[in-house]
Order: sequence, then C-alpha cells, then structure tokens
Amino acid sequence: MPRTKFSAILHEKCPRCREGNIFTYPLSKVSRFSITNENCPVCNLRYEKEPGTFYGAMYVSYGFNVGMVVALFIATFTIGNDPHLMWYFIVIIPALILAAPFFFRYSRVLWLYFFSDVKYNPSLADKAQGTV
Ligand SMILES: [Zn+2]
Repeated sequence: MPRTKFSAILHEKCPRCREGNIFTYPLSKVSRFSITNENCPVCNLRYEKEPGTFYGAMYVSYGFNVGMVVALFIATFTIGNDPHLMWYFIVIIPALILAAPFFFRYSRVLWLYFFSDVKYNPSLADKAQGTV
C-alpha cells in the first residue's frame, strides 16, 4: 500500500519513492541529527542535486523559528500576565535550542517535498517492496 505524502514527510522519507530515509540516523541520535544521505537508499535519488540545494531550507527553518518564538512570546505574556523580560528569555531560548534538530530536519524535508521539483513515482516504491 503506498505511503501518503503526509506520512512520508512525517517519517522523513524520500520524496520520489517515499520509502528511503533522507537522514542517515534517527532524530533520537541527537549528536548526528544533521547527517543527510547523499542518495536515497531505495531509488538512488540524489537529494542534494547541486551545491547549495539546502540553502533554501534555511528559509523554512527561519519560518519555524519565528513561528515558535511568536507563539511562546504570546503564551508567556498571557500565562505569566506580562512577566519580567527575563522570563521571556528563560522560556524562549531553551525552546529554540531544543527544537533546533527538529527544525533542521523538517525544514530540509519540506524543502525537498515542496521546492525541489521531485515528483512521486510509486513504481519505484513497488519495486523496492518486491510487489512488481
Ligand atoms: Zn527514494
């Protein structure tokens, strides 16, 4: 059964076959979160087709970070009833550090899915699963 686009994005799978992993290690290996496979292990798609392919992912990551900072600022303001300025830093800076690996990976995944011009090819996934 083919994987949905949402499921493939959630599990950080290749945009072409939706089966191969984009990253070498799982997110739980925090010290190696940024190591990206050069090619898809299933369909051999080259993820970084030219140098700087992932520079654009920084814009996606920027959007994630700004969104989180604004949300945490509003939450801190509302819950803390406009607390001292230090409370905003105490809440927001650790959240940014903790979210960095997550934002790094999903910004690359979203960049590959929505801006890299790679189309889903279900027959590649079928071949990998041996159903064809
Ligand atoms: Zn693939």
